[in-house]
Amino acid sequence: MIVAGPCAVESREQVMTTARAVADAGAVMLRGGAFKPRTSPKSFQGMGHAGLELLAEAGAATGLPVVTEVMDPREVEAVASVAAMLQIGSRNMQNFPLLREVGRTRKPVLLKRGASATIDELLHAADYILQGGNELVVLCERGVRSFDTATRYLLDLAAVAVLRERTELPVVVDPSHGTGKAAYVPAMARAAAAAGADGVIIEVHPNPEAALSDGPQALRPHEFAQLVADLRRIVPLVGRRVLRSPGAQPASNPNHATEVIAP
Ligand code: PEP
Ligand code: MN
Repeated sequence: MIVAGPCAVESREQVMTTARAVADAGAVMLRGGAFKPRTSPKSFQGMGHAGLELLAEAGAATGLPVVTEVMDPREVEAVASVAAMLQIGSRNMQNFPLLREVGRTRKPVLLKRGASATIDELLHAADYILQGGNELVVLCERGVRSFDTATRYLLDLAAVAVLRERTELPVVVDPSHGTGKAAYVPAMARAAAAAGADGVIIEVHPNPEAALSDGPQALRPHEFAQLVADLRRIVPLVGRRVLRSPGAQPASNPNHATEVIAP
């Protein structure tokens, strides 16, 4: 599963342009934050409900289901009305009331590993959601803190192998936050695919220099398209298939195939 989109929804034009670009390249899901967990309260906090509306519009225009972060238990219903998948960000991996709240929904949940969380803690956090009766949990490795500042976080690709052994839940890798630098993202996405990850989630922006958050790690649309092409060569080598978009139009777009695999 290849998920892509901007870090944050910034404007109608930005999210529409990005959504079209990632859909054309072959992404099957659109990502984008409306509620952003920023380190400083002075940084752009996301467009909130207006951002959700733009995501709904971009999803409808491209046929891509949307994954977006929910930070507040009181917003779960609003976010779930737009999102096909609810994202729990790394900073909220152990926000237990929030985990219980998404556990009460029947929406798939993308649970991102906390930057200082062990794999055990990630699995226990998943249990909070599962215990509510929501079995649709997808785990996401997005890098952990380390001593080395060469990358933003240290992407723990061994977590893919460990989680494969420890759980049947799908595992997605986020090389964008995991490296923090666009130049390193394709290599780590390819490595994630080779390691047997069930998906990758990639930040893409039409103009990374102007991004309101995470610009340095955003791929440009053409870079993302190249990455998708590379993943399509790697994934079959490890005995897997790349999920194709349900909105596929194979005649007009060679990146799309006729096969539809329901999420
Ligand atoms: C994001 O996906 O934009 C995000 C904030 O990720 P994380 O929670 O992994 O930092
Ligand atoms: Mn981001």
